[in-house]
This record gives sequence, C-alpha cells and structure tokens, in this order.
Amino acid sequence: MQSRMSLPVQMAIGMVLGIIAGCLASSAGVAAGWFKPLGDLFITLVRMVVVPLVFTTLVAGAASVYDVRELGRVATKTIVYYLLTTTVAVIIGLLLANLIHPGAGLDLSLEGLKAKEAAAPPLVKVLMDIVPINPVEALAKGNMLQVIFFAILFGFALSMLGEKGKPAFVFFDSCAEVMIKITGIVMYYAPIGVFGLMAFTVANHGLGVLLPLIKLVGVMFAASILQILIVYLPCVRVAGLRPGTFLKGISEPLMIAFTTCSSAAALSSNLLSVEKLGARKSVASFSIPLGNTINMDGAAIYMGVAAIFAADIYGIPMPIDKQLTVILMAVLASIGSMGVPGAALVMITMVFTQVGIPLEAIAIIAGVDRIMDMARTSINVLGDAAGALLVSRLERGRADSAPANI
Ligand code: ASP
Repeated sequence: MQSRMSLPVQMAIGMVLGIIAGCLASSAGVAAGWFKPLGDLFITLVRMVVVPLVFTTLVAGAASVYDVRELGRVATKTIVYYLLTTTVAVIIGLLLANLIHPGAGLDLSLEGLKAKEAAAPPLVKVLMDIVPINPVEALAKGNMLQVIFFAILFGFALSMLGEKGKPAFVFFDSCAEVMIKITGIVMYYAPIGVFGLMAFTVANHGLGVLLPLIKLVGVMFAASILQILIVYLPCVRVAGLRPGTFLKGISEPLMIAFTTCSSAAALSSNLLSVEKLGARKSVASFSIPLGNTINMDGAAIYMGVAAIFAADIYGIPMPIDKQLTVILMAVLASIGSMGVPGAALVMITMVFTQVGIPLEAIAIIAGVDRIMDMARTSINVLGDAAGALLVSRLERGRADSAPANI
C-alpha cells in the first residue's frame, strides 16, 4: 500500500517524535542506548550505498557528456564554482565567529581535556593521496577522494571511446539506476532512523547541553543563512530562477538533508529535483554526485566557526596567518568529508592540528554536533543544487552533445 504521507513529512514527524522520546527517556530513566541501534542501522544503510552510488552515478554522469571538450568545460566550471563557494563559506563562518565570539566567556570544564600532541599530515601528502594505488582497494576502504578520482577518469575514458565504450556506458548507467533505486528503498527506513538518531542525541546529552553552546549553534545557523542569501540565491538568479521557485523545487532533498544529516541520502532526490528545475541532465548527472562529496560548503562554514570557538575557549590567539591556514585546511577537509552524519566532526581534526588547537575541543563541540550537522548538511546539498543550475545556465546556448540514444 502506498503511504499517502510524503517522505519529508514522515521524516519531520520522526524528528519531532525523536526529540519528544529523548526528553521523556531522560526523565523516565530510560537509557539512551535503547534508541541507538535504530539510528545506527540507518547510518550503516547509508554507508552501504554511498560508495557504489557515487561511483556509478559519477562514471555514468561523466561518460554521458559525450564530447570530451564539453566534459572538460563542465568539469572546470563546476570545480571552480565548488572551490569559490567553499572558500566564501569558510570566510563567512570565520567573519561571523570573529564578530560574535561564541566561545568567549564560556566557563566549560577543560579538565581531562588537556592538549594532546597530534602531527598534521603534510599538505603534499594529502594531495598525493588522492591518486589510488589500487582503485579496488579505494572502493573497498571507501576512500571517497580516490573513488572520485578514478570514477571521473573512467567516465572520461568511456566518453573518449565513443561507440566502443557504449556497452560499458549502458552497464554503468543501468548500475547507477539500480543504486538510485536502492537508495530509495533505504529511504523508507529513514523516518525511523531519524527518530532513533534524534532520540539518542537528546536522551544522551539532554537539551541542557544546548544552553552553553547555544551561541555556537546560533552562529552556525546564521552563517548558513548568509551563505544562502549571499551565494546561492544570486547564483540561481543568474540561472534564471526565482528564489522561491528554487527553494520549493529543492524542498525534498533539503528536508532529507536536514533530518538525516546525510547528503549521500539526499543525492538521488537532489539529482531529480535539479533536473525538474531545468538543470541539464549532462551537467547534473556529473556535478551532483561529484559535489556530494567534494562540495561541502556547510562543513566548511562549520570548520571556520568551530576553529574560532575552540581557540577562544582555550585562549589560543588566532592572528590572520592562522585564519588563512584555517581557510585552506577547511576547504581541503570539507572536500574530503563523506556525506554521512558527523563526517565533518572527524575531518575537523585536520584543521585543528594544523593551527595547534587541542583535539579535545572536539569533545565539547560533539554534544551539539547533530544540530549543527542539520544546518551544514542542508547547505552541502543546496550548494550542489545551485551549482548544477548555474553551470547548466552557463552551458546554455551550446547544443547538448549526447546523441539521442544516450
Ligand atoms: N553530514 C554531512 C553531510 O552528509 C557531512 C558533515 O558535514 O559532517 O553532508
């Protein structure tokens, strides 16, 4: 029987019920651990689909741009957009955090949270590691940057082969459809998963954890709204869409992102939504799966905000050169984040170690990470959608190179 309630509505209900259950559980003495398996199962399901989903959609997407020159053009525009918007995102996060100083005056117990020495990996190594020694190993280990590198190369080679590559293209295109279908099946479980995740977070930390960190959460949300107003809405305007049309058209992936905190879970819905909004299929099917991992503006905002917050609570000065390092590292770390809940909380170690912020600060932020993840995942998904629409607009006037049968 078909449920009459749409998925976003079901997930919103799951979220509200989860918050209520979490509140009641802590007062009724029910252990938070009861809710954990419900949420963990959802995260495992998403992690199960993310590698094959990104790999197959990206190979099929890159290969469906039939003309190699077109692929080069689309890839260049997309990547320039990703780098620029992610850099602007960190800067917005840093500026707002410098203005408001969400960590200033906070009296948090830092006992037992003393600085641990951690060595930052050299930048050259981070970049060199994008090339996999063994692509199968990269797939097996879920190293997303290596998977993406190989998928693009594979799709590129496929499109260069023309007729000869067609059987492989048909195969990967069909596999991509299968993975999109599997994601759809996984999403049936999402409302329960969202319930479990919310109930666990609230029961575990209690809403009281919010109070001292409310300024931090507020700065994260405010910076996210600024990113939408300053960056995305002008981009979709250039793409010829009204802001209202864009936000309405993108509401389903946005709701999935907000409630599940996973941009991988929102990938297929995002792809379909931008195409309905008028993005070219050849652009969207390449840029949406690519951006799903490498374009994480929300994560970048978060890293900027969290760096200033943590530096403040530890009394670490952040002169301009250190903030420039934060910008560079946050862009790189957000590129390397996976589209699953809490990914940026792990990747932020890259930023903190580079500027000498104790990693123990992460333990303090972790209590409100889920709430900040809602904002950053929404931004991660919106950024990809706005990019696909903008690049499609910039490509308008050029004939779609794919022959009718592709
Ligand atoms: N949860 C985010 C996403 O799926 C990643 C992160 O910022 O932690 O896009």
